[in-house]
Amino acid sequence: MTPAPDLTIPDLTGRIALVTGASRGIGYFIAKRLAAAGAHVVAVARTVGGLEELDDEIKAERARSGKGEATLVPLDLTDMPAIDRLGGAIHDRWKKLDLLVANAGVLGVISPIGHVEAKTFEKVMAVNVTGTWRLIRSVDPLLRFSEAGRAVVVTSSAAHAGRAFWAPYAASKAAVEALMRSWADETRNMALRVNAFDPGGTRTAMRAQAMPGENPDTLPHPSEPAGHIMRLVDPALTETGKIYQVKTGRFVSHRLPE
Ligand code: NDP
Repeated sequence: MTPAPDLTIPDLTGRIALVTGASRGIGYFIAKRLAAAGAHVVAVARTVGGLEELDDEIKAERARSGKGEATLVPLDLTDMPAIDRLGGAIHDRWKKLDLLVANAGVLGVISPIGHVEAKTFEKVMAVNVTGTWRLIRSVDPLLRFSEAGRAVVVTSSAAHAGRAFWAPYAASKAAVEALMRSWADETRNMALRVNAFDPGGTRTAMRAQAMPGENPDTLPHPSEPAGHIMRLVDPALTETGKIYQVKTGRFVSHRLPE
């Protein structure tokens, strides 16, 4: 894995960052990283225990460095009115949002396409696609109020790999990339920058579900790809409408199957 670039760590003091899927895995470490750089992280997930653990770690870091804070938001991303209320609450409290990391996602099932149950397919689309779109719709005006709004949607190489048995997840990630590109184009002439982030294979619960036979010790710890997020939230970032690949440490416009 390309090491996270450490020369570009921006000071995020005073910046408000919304991170979904912050209760575990990659989102947990992205939230920690943003808080360590000074951000106030609005941490979203369903599992209160995971969010509280994150909060404890952020508080401990704050005691050491004086940086970072968290607001915990237990929320199911299939609850669309709740997503709308979250945007309203952020507006009431801060009047703006500086950073969005739409990271939460579900795998669904690894299965031949014809064997996928309707409820599984619909759940993957509800969380990964509709939830992401609804969140974008809810916070887009708030990100435009930031002097350097940065939005990141988390994608996967599965979107382009054409891999057997991955259809629902792959379709959801292709859809998320399409949302990202249209949004980036709509905001091209504004301060807001919108990109996708491909963490690459990472040692998390989702990866274990996808690849049960794999030795997790062969995979990077989620803190490794999380470190790369600093590239995408940097106020100096100029890229928009791109996919940042942790594997290569580069932004690409369109990815072709390997
Ligand atoms: P995990 O399963 O470890 O974490 C998923 C996160 O999403 C959890 O915090 C979970 O919180 C949250 N989440 C799931 N469903 C909902 C829901 N309905 N409402 C709110 N939050 C929800 O996965 P990873 O950390 O591996 O994945 C993070 C992102 O990275 C995903 O978008 C994934 O597709 C992507 N990715 C992961 C790769 C990997 O190898 N791990 C590779 C490429 C991409 P809770 O259950 O508490 O609600």
